[in-house]
Amino acid sequence: MGRNRRVQQRESLTKMDFKTIDDADEIAQIRESVRRLCEQFPGEYWRRMDRENAYPSEFVNALSQAGYLSVLIPEEYGGAGMQLSGALAILEEVQRAGANGAACHAQMYMMGALLRHGSDEQKQRYLPAIAAGELRLQSFGVTEPTSGTDTLALKTVARREGDHYVVNGQKVWTSRAEHSDLMLLLARTTPREEVQKRTDGLSVLIVDQREALKGGMTIKPIRTMMNHSTTEVFFDNVRVPAENLLGEEGKGFRYILSGMNAERILIAAECIGDAKWFLDKASAYAKERVVFGRPIGQNQGVQFPLAKAYAHMRAAELMVHRAAGLYAAGANCGEEANIAKMLAAEASWMAAEACLQTHGGFGFAEEYDIERKFRETRLYQVAPISSNLILSYLAEHVLGLPRSY
Ligand SMILES: Cc1cc2nc3c(=O)[nH]c(=O)nc-3n(C[C@H](O)[C@H](O)[C@H](O)COP(=O)(O)OP(=O)(O)OC[C@H]3O[C@@H](n4cnc5c(N)ncnc54)[C@H](O)[C@@H]3O)c2cc1C
Repeated sequence: MGRNRRVQQRESLTKMDFKTIDDADEIAQIRESVRRLCEQFPGEYWRRMDRENAYPSEFVNALSQAGYLSVLIPEEYGGAGMQLSGALAILEEVQRAGANGAACHAQMYMMGALLRHGSDEQKQRYLPAIAAGELRLQSFGVTEPTSGTDTLALKTVARREGDHYVVNGQKVWTSRAEHSDLMLLLARTTPREEVQKRTDGLSVLIVDQREALKGGMTIKPIRTMMNHSTTEVFFDNVRVPAENLLGEEGKGFRYILSGMNAERILIAAECIGDAKWFLDKASAYAKERVVFGRPIGQNQGVQFPLAKAYAHMRAAELMVHRAAGLYAAGANCGEEANIAKMLAAEASWMAAEACLQTHGGFGFAEEYDIERKFRETRLYQVAPISSNLILSYLAEHVLGLPRSY
């Protein structure tokens, strides 16, 4: 579709856009019940998880049992069959409550690949169990140590041998791998030199980790500045049944790309939730903390960074909703999803910085949760895609500038 047609299509969607999101009573109810669920997991819970570098299993189980992690699964497979707007409301509220959805958000954005490209048999096999909270689809093996952002250069190989693929290689930053039953793995099935199109030759396999861990798969945790349960994963002749190939062999890169808009919109919604949490916390403190005989929030030097972060957050929020509306309508939303992700990640960081500064020394004390959230929200300018790569997408695909890499 040409750029003009895409722009026209987007413009004509303006009204529908806003209707699909916040006006809906259903979404408002979801937000309210997620808030109530999160109240059972206060700051003390998250501080303990952070201190012990532990996975918040109780929280993830509670979200799964309440059906929130399966809202995108169609009703025929036991899910709620909602649009992306439902999922983004959930993730935003989780973050706004001071919790950390990174423990489980991937199940929402990886679902799309299985829904769009999985066979009927695969959907029957996995989706009802995922919807029931009995099976976890939380690990996403794309990034590798030597290729980084250059996904097409990845080196993990899946070689077909009879009715199996034999996988060899290494992934890095595979988050939640220790807490997942299934992994979506992107591996090379045709050598790079033998493909006609540079994007061909990669395939997605649904790896049943419970089997793979018995035969050649090893997971090693990586400690990071925040509690993120991320790992490196090694594959040494791991045998994966050929029936676990998602879609067509060699087309995997496209499948992963097609899920990226949803991923960006959902992560952006989390950043909006973070920004709101920081701004609520900072505003409350600025009203109550008295220095020099008046609330610190009376000083414009304290007000302005908060007001500025708020304005940035609201602008980013509009873009998140716009991208989600386009996504729901099946329109191309690459531009909006990328912009939403970048602006929301910047807004949450701006709010984090203003919140920390507003709290002065107390911002550094664990019990205020600010330093924890500060560390957690910083990630989103780097992962799942760095702001630089979003800028180069906009430069090349929207502004028509020459490809830079
Ligand atoms: C905590 C955490 C969790 C993660 N979870 C997952 C996961 O579950 N699954 C998964 O597959 N991956 C995951 N990732 C990986 C993440 O997606 C990558 O870290 C990210 O895409 C950047 O890749 P890289 O770290 O290899 O950086 P590199 O590609 O080495 O880039 C380093 C820096 O150089 C910049 N850069 C590189 N090329 C260009 C260019 N052409 N133009 C301008 N700037 C450039 C980048 O923007 C970046 O700032 C996670 C990462 C982290 C830190």
